[in-house]
Amino acid sequence: MPIPVTCPLCGVKYQVPERLKGKNIKCKECEELISVGGASAGGALPPRRNSSKGGKASRPSQA
Ligand SMILES: [Zn+2]
Repeated sequence: MPIPVTCPLCGVKYQVPERLKGKNIKCKECEELISVGGASAGGALPPRRNSSKGGKASRPSQA
């Protein structure tokens, strides 16, 4: 099963054999080295921050 890789520089897509996993191939267009089977880019999402501000500060002072 071939591994789809995309050149990070020029965006050309290749299908490389699985035996090349963990190795680098050279892009034919821009000669950039592309790592095969590496971690997919853009996988790290920023942690969700609860923006619940305490807006109940104005307490009506009933006497
Ligand atoms: Zn390229």
